[in-house]
Amino acid sequence: MKRDESNEAAGFGEAAGPGESIGPGEAAWDESEGRGSCLTSALHQRFETLCGWALNPGISGGEENLPKGSWVPDHVLSCLRELRRSGHDRLVISACLLGIACRYDGKSKPVAGIEALLERLDFEVVPICPEMLAELGVPRPPMSFRKGDGRAMLDGAAALVDRNGRSCTEAMTNGAGRAETMAREVDARWALLKERSPSCGLHQVDVSGSLVEGRGVFAALAMDHGWRCYSEEELERLIRDREVE
Ligand code: SF4
Repeated sequence: MKRDESNEAAGFGEAAGPGESIGPGEAAWDESEGRGSCLTSALHQRFETLCGWALNPGISGGEENLPKGSWVPDHVLSCLRELRRSGHDRLVISACLLGIACRYDGKSKPVAGIEALLERLDFEVVPICPEMLAELGVPRPPMSFRKGDGRAMLDGAAALVDRNGRSCTEAMTNGAGRAETMAREVDARWALLKERSPSCGLHQVDVSGSLVEGRGVFAALAMDHGWRCYSEEELERLIRDREVE
């Protein structure tokens, strides 16, 4: 099982591996390849609850019946409310940074020691994958912006297409909207996001084959809300900010 979406290299990034596909109901966080091994089972389960439904649209009676936009299922809202009551500040994190294999190529981008670090910083971790929430599956074709970044796309001035030329603008808008709904529901004020992803990229994204300054779609929404956002390349800043809080 796999899925992913951030094309970190110029162009459309890494292609999905041969034969990589995901069927309905398959998990997107396969540990069989040793890529999710840094993740505790509790966080694994949390991710499955929060985002797994987007790979199993049958819960709503079929994919065609899934409400679009920023809708998320009731069981997700319940889980988020529980996390909100935990007493710890909530931090939304790009799930792939935890070792969850949800990227376009079916792999993850785990940051060594991230779980222990976030625990030490007293965060309640909320793993989210906006592209999984966009129902794009794992793996999925890599995507690139046309004419602008995620901010421009939300303003109707840019578009996202995948390697096959298929427009992903609506799906990615839905996925980012769902991730935003979840972050608001849990009242997250902190976010740790995967750089260079068309969803989560905070400082750089791929536009028409070139890595340029810009934001992914979900990152743009997170910044709009004034949440404290950091990429995985800014952990020292996150630690500093958290410790002086
Ligand atoms: S960068 Fe964001 S959208 Fe891409 S795989 Fe990671 S969590 Fe999902």
